Amino acid sequence: MDTVTASSANADFGIDSILAATHARHLPNVTGAVADYIPELAVADPDHFGIAIATVNGKLHTAGDADHPFTIQSVAKAFIYCLALELVGRDAVMARVGVEPSGDPFNAIEFDPHSNRPFNPMVNAGAITVDGIIHGVAGSDAFELIIDRLSQAAGRRLTMDEAVYRSESETGHRNRAIGHLLRNVGALDGPVDEIVDLYFRQCAIRVTATDLARMGATLAHIGENPVTGQQVFELDAVRNTLAVMFTCGTYDFSGTWAYDVGVPAKSGVGGGICGVVNRLLGIGTFSPRLDVKGNSVRGVASFIDLANELGLHVFDCSNAGSTFVRSLVR
Ligand code: GLN
Repeated sequence: MDTVTASSANADFGIDSILAATHARHLPNVTGAVADYIPELAVADPDHFGIAIATVNGKLHTAGDADHPFTIQSVAKAFIYCLALELVGRDAVMARVGVEPSGDPFNAIEFDPHSNRPFNPMVNAGAITVDGIIHGVAGSDAFELIIDRLSQAAGRRLTMDEAVYRSESETGHRNRAIGHLLRNVGALDGPVDEIVDLYFRQCAIRVTATDLARMGATLAHIGENPVTGQQVFELDAVRNTLAVMFTCGTYDFSGTWAYDVGVPAKSGVGGGICGVVNRLLGIGTFSPRLDVKGNSVRGVASFIDLANELGLHVFDCSNAGSTFVRSLVR
């Protein structure tokens, strides 16, 4: 196959042609497998593939199936962490869940041996703990609070996929076990079944790659949705969330991600990845075939290319993206 790079194929350096070329380059890649441990996820069409970029001045650029719905799964973990920081403050959150990369898979049953806390909020144990914090504040209104806030970040009303929720609820014994262990070590102090149910519901919220790009752009724009102008998240909470997305957002792939992509991001087993180029862009990708670590194969490949071609890596010569990207948000 001809491997023409996006930049050489598109001398005008137009963002739309770079996205289209990235999409075309990775479309033939059918390696990886759709998550099937949640039975309803196994019925997803593995061929869908979409990429979206949303800028902090409200523009949107897409390629492929950017408007195809899928469940947010673990991408929600970043946003609920941001919400919890705002609700109870950094110290109260830190008392329950740490910010250290665990180097373990997302569903690991491992806690920090010194503190007895989950290592970080981007793995299941940490996210269930964060749900315990939100449940402690909002009780039976916790899910509404979460879906409202995620909807504000996306700039449209999101809904939950009932079938995926029920499927995970019926089979999620490992997450229930994690919930009970968290209760045992004192990271949770509320009703375990309700808190794990909240976790299953939030994982089943339906989004598109465009939504993930818009949500990322809200974080990039220090918590303000660039399209609606609404201040969705607090500034300090956004900073802390981006830090933990950077170090822990792709589980035991996070070191390689930081090395090769270099932007804060969060992945989910529904096939979505949400990335944040601070002060500039949100990037959303969707492709359901996952690698062994549970990250979307085409999503990771697309992020690596976009980071290289657009100069997005935080340690590139400029830490605010390339001159080209800055020209996009003028
Ligand atoms: N609902 C999924 C689970 O708990 C989310 C995991 C993920 O996206 N990595 O297993």
